[in-house]
Amino acid sequence: MNVNGRCHCGSITFEAEIDQAKVSLCHCTDCQTLSGSPFRSTAFSANNSFKLLSGQVKIYVKTGSSGAKRQQAFCPECGTPIYATSVPPGPVYGIRTGCIDMEQRRQLKPSVQIWTRSSMPWVDHIGGVKKVEQAP
Ligand SMILES: [Zn+2]
Ligand SMILES: [Zn+2]
Repeated sequence: MNVNGRCHCGSITFEAEIDQAKVSLCHCTDCQTLSGSPFRSTAFSANNSFKLLSGQVKIYVKTGSSGAKRQQAFCPECGTPIYATSVPPGPVYGIRTGCIDMEQRRQLKPSVQIWTRSSMPWVDHIGGVKKVEQAP
């Protein structure tokens, strides 16, 4: 599936081809901190298909518990996380689904949850949490 996306301020735009069957939710503590959320949703690009169309990302390199280094790319203006990839970059980019076009990201249903060892203890219960359609 071809996707396109943008950061919140719009300076960064991109396109990529992703495998819709391989969308994951990650509960690792790095994703919690780097996303500012309880977990993170990622779609993986086909080899060498990620193309930055405008803007310039800022890169933060994190070292994982395995010792592997991963580039974390985000917009230097608005802070939107865009993708993670290897050092040096490619060929696969883990695209943060929150910056993919709204109609497209609605179709990116995750097929696996990883690092559940560190998931929030209440994460399986959000379906039962009181729902309000807009800001209360
Ligand atoms: Zn931005
Ligand atoms: Zn993670």
